[in-house]
Order: sequence, then structure tokens, then C-alpha cells
Amino acid sequence: MPRIDLRSDTVTQPSPAMRRAMAGAELGDDVFGDDPTVNALEARAAELLGKEAGLFVTSGTMGNLVAQMAHLGRGQETIAGREHHLVIDEAAGHAVIVGTSVRALQDRPDGTVDPSEIEAAFRDPDDPHEPITGLVTIENTHAHSMGQPLTPAYTNEVAEIAHRHGVPLHVDGARFWDAVVAQGLRAIDLAGPADTVTFCLSKGLACPVGSVVVGRKDVIWRARRARKMVGGGMRQAGVLAAAGLVALSDGPEGMIDRLAEDHANARRLAEALSEMSGIIAAGGNAQPTDPDRPGPLDPARVRTNFVLFRVERDRASFLAALRARDVQMVEYPHGQVRAVTHYGVTAADVETTIAATHAALAETA
Ligand SMILES: *Cc1c(COP(=O)(O)O)cnc(C)c1O
Repeated sequence: MPRIDLRSDTVTQPSPAMRRAMAGAELGDDVFGDDPTVNALEARAAELLGKEAGLFVTSGTMGNLVAQMAHLGRGQETIAGREHHLVIDEAAGHAVIVGTSVRALQDRPDGTVDPSEIEAAFRDPDDPHEPITGLVTIENTHAHSMGQPLTPAYTNEVAEIAHRHGVPLHVDGARFWDAVVAQGLRAIDLAGPADTVTFCLSKGLACPVGSVVVGRKDVIWRARRARKMVGGGMRQAGVLAAAGLVALSDGPEGMIDRLAEDHANARRLAEALSEMSGIIAAGGNAQPTDPDRPGPLDPARVRTNFVLFRVERDRASFLAALRARDVQMVEYPHGQVRAVTHYGVTAADVETTIAATHAALAETA
């Protein structure tokens, strides 16, 4: 395996403090509600995001799934961006398991969906032909726009529209903490307008497993029942939750503030890539670039830990040439390449990556 693995922030290994906490965690049977470490993690997450309750789940996908199951009935519809993970990357769980449809709207290069399009996407509840709109979701940070962080003002605007129509807002915050740190916010201010938020512990926060869903007590109770239904009721899960408590702690072993390092590393990488011939702007549906007239990669668009770009090379050959130099990136939709910075990738690794990219471009020219 190449030493510098930039495919995703999911490849992170737990910190030494996490491994210690996991080894020593106090445990119980969480399905009985008896695991003190899981209970502490759920309470900590709820407190940080200003919600009544939290629920520890196996993954971000399960978090989104049980949130949908808590909010929606069969035959209802969710308004979302067409590039959202919940729409295209969760094996159609919304359809197969929740029994709902998605009204998929165009994502914009800043990671938002136009609020007026959201407003117009609500169905007419008096028309028996139509599904009934039951949920609005946004994704923060927004992956396909290269990890753009959404603001509290935008979150608030979408929540007001949803609530005016009597439906809740769910935030898929797989990388919620990147959005918090990139904008210098308090989590509570970014989560405030949302009814439920899911965030991943297993991405930039470097835990081995898990996500947390937070929201009102009654909603989280329904999500807990949904989690049981899909087989996500875990027993001595505190052994996993212990890592999450370390990640969310205020102390020097916490993993939130250090995300700023990942963002600086991603920006440095993008600045160097933007000056290389053979590297052009990312080309997905949520990018500002005209696919027929691609410009250079714009490093100012790197606000968090994602760098997306295209190579004027055979992409597979370019990636193989990088791997031969101990650096791994990954193919991303729309002909793009993705590099994600994370815990374990140092500033020196970024310089190595820059040199390897130069060499891989030259070799595959
Ligand atoms: C990774 C991700 C998820 C799902 O998380 P898993 O833990 O991989 O299931 C959901 N939404 C977004 C935006 C993601 O990037």
C-alpha cells in the first residue's frame, strides 16, 4: 500500500489516546441502554449540537437512514440535492427501506440548492396524484462541490422554508465538523435550525467506526427503534463510542480543532496543483466550470479537506504513476480525481505529494 493515502478521510487510524480509551472503556449492553460509554457519547454529541438527544449508529449511511425512518412514512418524498450522498451513494435506501421518493434538485457550486427551487419543489398535498413532501435535507460539508461548507444563514433559510410547509430539516453532516472549523463557528449555531443532524466520527475525526444522529427526544426515540429494525442495535458498543468521546473532547486529545490542519494542507496542495500544466478544474455538476472550456483548478475553492480536479492525461495511468511514487488518490465521478487530507497526513507528506504529482504528470504526458 502507498504510504500517503489521500483517497478519503475514512482511511484514518485511531489516535493512541483513542486506543487507550477503547481498551479501558466501561461497558454494558447498549440495547438495554446500559452502556455508560455509549450514553456519554450520545449526551456529549447532543450537548455540542444543542439538541435533546443523540443516537450512536454504525455509519453515516445508517444515520441518514434512521433519520429518514424517524421523519417519513411510506409514499412520502424528500427534497434533496441530486448529488447528495443520501440520493446517489446509499444504495437507494430511501426507496428500498424507507419507501420514499426523492425530489432531486440541482446542487450549486457553493454546495447549496437554490432556496426558491426548494420552495417550488413542495408537492400539492390536496392532489391525490402526488407524493407528500415529508422532509428536506442538505449536506454539510457538500462533497460534490469539493467540500464547500454551508453557512448558518443558509441552513436557517432552508429550515424556515421546510418548517413553513410543516416538514423537518435533516442535515447530512458527515463532515459537519469540517464546516464548523472552516467557518470558525460554534457547532450549536450551525446545527440550531435543523431538526436532525448526522455526523461521522469515522472520517476526519479519525475514529474507527461510527456516526451520531442528534435531534429532539421523540424523534431520536423513533430513530432508535428504526436502528433496531435494520439490525443496528449493538451490545458493548462503548468500546467504539470511547473513541468518539476522545474525538469530541475539549482537551488536547480532541480531534475537532486539528481539522484546520487538514484544511491548510488541502489548500497548499491545491495551490501547487493549480500551477501545474495538465491539471484542470474539477468538472462535476456542482462545479463552476464549463466542461467544454475547463479553466485551471481554483485553490480558493478549497475551503475544507477535499481537492477535486481533472488531469489532461489518461486518468488510470496518472493514478498508477502516483501510486508508484507512494501516493494514492482516487477516481471521483465526472472524470475527476479526489485527494482528501486527514489525520496522519503531514505538511511534509503534502510536499511529497506535490513532487509525486509533477513526476506522474510528466511520465503520463
Ligand atoms: C461518507 C458520507 C456519508 C456516509 O457515511 P458512511 O459512514 O460512509 O456510511 C454520508 N454523507 C456524506 C456526505 C458522506 O460523505
